Amino acid sequence: MTSSVSSPVRLSPAALRDLWLAVLRKLEPKIQRSQFITWFRDTAILGLEEGTLVVGLPLPMSLNWHLEHYRAQTLQAAQEMDPSIRQVVYQVDGGLKDDPARTFDLLQHFAEPKRRKLPGKQEVKLAEGIVSKILTPRYTLENFVVGSGNRLAYAACQAVAQQPGGKYNPLFLYGGVGLGKTHLLQATGNAILKQMPKATVVYTTTEDFTNQVIEAIQHQKMEQLRRRYRVVDVLIIDDVQFLANKERTQEEFFHTFNALYEEHKQVIISADRPPQELDLDDRLASRFERGMIADVSAPDYETRLAILIEKAKEYELFIDMQVLQFIAEHATKNVRELEGILMQAVAQYELEQRVPTVKSIAEIMVKLNKDPHAQESPVGFEVPLKRKASFQDLMEAVSRYYSVSMQDIVGASRVREILLPRQIAMYLAKKYQPLSYVRIGELFSGRDHTTVMNAVQKIERKMHNDSQLLREVRALEKELDFVS
Ligand code: ADP
Ligand code: MG
Repeated sequence: MTSSVSSPVRLSPAALRDLWLAVLRKLEPKIQRSQFITWFRDTAILGLEEGTLVVGLPLPMSLNWHLEHYRAQTLQAAQEMDPSIRQVVYQVDGGLKDDPARTFDLLQHFAEPKRRKLPGKQEVKLAEGIVSKILTPRYTLENFVVGSGNRLAYAACQAVAQQPGGKYNPLFLYGGVGLGKTHLLQATGNAILKQMPKATVVYTTTEDFTNQVIEAIQHQKMEQLRRRYRVVDVLIIDDVQFLANKERTQEEFFHTFNALYEEHKQVIISADRPPQELDLDDRLASRFERGMIADVSAPDYETRLAILIEKAKEYELFIDMQVLQFIAEHATKNVRELEGILMQAVAQYELEQRVPTVKSIAEIMVKLNKDPHAQESPVGFEVPLKRKASFQDLMEAVSRYYSVSMQDIVGASRVREILLPRQIAMYLAKKYQPLSYVRIGELFSGRDHTTVMNAVQKIERKMHNDSQLLREVRALEKELDFVS
């Protein structure tokens, strides 16, 4: 280390995050959208010291690409934000991949340009140069699926949509990621605009708001910023947990909030925790507690299934009910996860013309690292009373899993697509049903018992060195509750 004459200012993780978002904002218009989303997904600033900006990449394979294509642009954008930055270096950090606290959901932060240009009411004309994200028209109260975990929040949003600035002011929604907070917030904004197209509805994330405050401070335009917000009718601010440790932004927000509140303007807020658990100035937290607080929690099985049916309809995806049930049973974490799996299925369908089956979905889930068979008992999913699976259940499961009819399974066809499921069915029948080889042969259209024996042995042998097959058999066993 050199002398500490000008000791470098170390930025907090939150400040680095803000800086990165600002840099991304500069880069995004210069890069083709698909490229931008692909290469900047799960990136972050890992550090900034003595003019060297360390950019973290989630995968080693994107390193060269960044070096070749984006380094100069990234440096330029970073310098616009902070002129003391002299170079950009990269570092691969595999942990970025599953760390939404450090990275940005680009699809959310950078709405599709197509949508931005949408004419009509969604294009809110905001007076005084107020910045608002365009509300995504896709988020409506109508297409929000109501279940036990979000009923109260939904009802509150409906009430606010009918009477903004009324009883439920402010409205504070909280809950974990991917459970529908942003959807509800934007849907409420959309609903208000539908009834009152002239209303000034501002939807902003805490990050955007913070950036505005920072910019206003830099350019000594604080007064102007305050004035701007006075004309707002409805202020929606998403993810206020990010206000923690941002004293100045909190203070500004406090003033803005008070001004609006006194004028009976509606304020709608979301966070990942209830107000008292947020690391906020007490004054602000107690303001949040004045109105209505509702939590959004994980959907139960029925709600997950209803959501999947709704989304499949939205994406015009024809998907078998049993497949949807399979997803709903196994993807239990949050709604975003459900949607992610469905989107993969859509992609698969569009690219490969493959109709989603339980098997292909199971593969997708494995790929997404969500081994459907390595899950604990899902939250809120009521396990039906256990009954030992019968031979009929077994046949149905195999038929569903491989999308092959039961007639074909017991029938005569020898094409591989049918032969394998048949052999697996025989194997499972022998292993888990109290049936002899002879009896199984009879059940499979009167085949000879040696055919059954051969099939069983073949599957047993193949499972040793065919991990795909092994996974499939395990999946079926699990589904039939033969093993736990
Ligand atoms: P959060 O803001 O709580 O992290 P989002 O609102 O971004 O979650 O939800 C993630 C995705 O799940 C969105 O695409 C949203 O439309 C969808 N979603 C969540 N809950 C529901 C629901 N109850 N009905 C329909 N879609 C939902
Ligand atoms: Mg959100």
